[in-house]
Amino acid sequence: MFATLSDRLTSTFKHLRTRGRLSEADIDATVREIRRALLDADVAVSVVREFTGKVRERALSAEVSGALNPAQQVVKIVNDELVAILGGDARGLNLAKNPPTVIMLAGLQGAGKTTLAGKLAVHLREQGHTPLLVAADLQRPNAVTQLKVVGERAGAPVYAPHPGVAGEDEVPTGDPVAVARAGVETARSRQHDVVIIDTAGRLGIDAELMTQASEIREATQPDEVLFVIDAMIGQDAVTTARAFADGVGFTGVVLSKLDGDARGGAALSVASVTGRPILFASTGEKLTDFEPFYPDRMASRILD
Ligand code: GDP
Repeated sequence: MFATLSDRLTSTFKHLRTRGRLSEADIDATVREIRRALLDADVAVSVVREFTGKVRERALSAEVSGALNPAQQVVKIVNDELVAILGGDARGLNLAKNPPTVIMLAGLQGAGKTTLAGKLAVHLREQGHTPLLVAADLQRPNAVTQLKVVGERAGAPVYAPHPGVAGEDEVPTGDPVAVARAGVETARSRQHDVVIIDTAGRLGIDAELMTQASEIREATQPDEVLFVIDAMIGQDAVTTARAFADGVGFTGVVLSKLDGDARGGAALSVASVTGRPILFASTGEKLTDFEPFYPDRMASRILD
């Protein structure tokens, strides 16, 4: 991911390196190259416009300092602005003062939510937490089974609806809001300090999905709502993110499938377009293919 963008940007800067002072025309030419590289990588047009505007303005007004030559200064400005669109400072998960911390996952079908539930569980268990996974995706027939498999691999129990079984686990099947609510109660009574709620996704955005996700949010009052976005879906990433931001609301973003070879720039636009930080990156199908997202490291990787 981002190999082409990275090559394009570094070759733009290479041309600059041979120059001493930068004229306004040099800066404009460079900004044009940057604009093309970002657009070709699928970064959202609004983000590109703002980004290049800021780079141009800062490059024009940059003082020539002793430490950096003008070309290095441009690279630094681009780096700073990349970090800014990726959400600025990295932050970890918001953990509740009074456990359980409730984490709700939202996103389209196939985005990687169920896999993320397992990845988060592994990540949290490594830190000494005792996560419970809740199967509130009752849309797809085998979603519950899939979460159980993931839970087993992650070493985390799964709370799922038990049709027809009387007792504390009995919740109305087919009612994801009730399952989510009961899952949080179960986490509380069994002393799990984190509960991760997997929710249903559709292939496209639809009103019913948004309403269901909002109802789950309302019923469980999560500390984090993580919007999972497949970095391979191109420009649709931004439209989808906006729809979820308006329809459900979320507190953080998880980029999945960053191991793919798509251009990925749209996913990089999601933090900027929604004003929500990217907290994690998923980089493969294995539960360990997962890492906290650091905007500064990602920017350096792109500009390396
Ligand atoms: P959900 O419908 O949102 O719950 O998505 P799933 O978790 O079922 O993931 C859909 C598919 O994407 C599955 O085949 C996963 O193995 C795969 N997947 C999930 N995350 C990643 C990732 O980071 N990289 C790759 N290559 N595949 C992933």
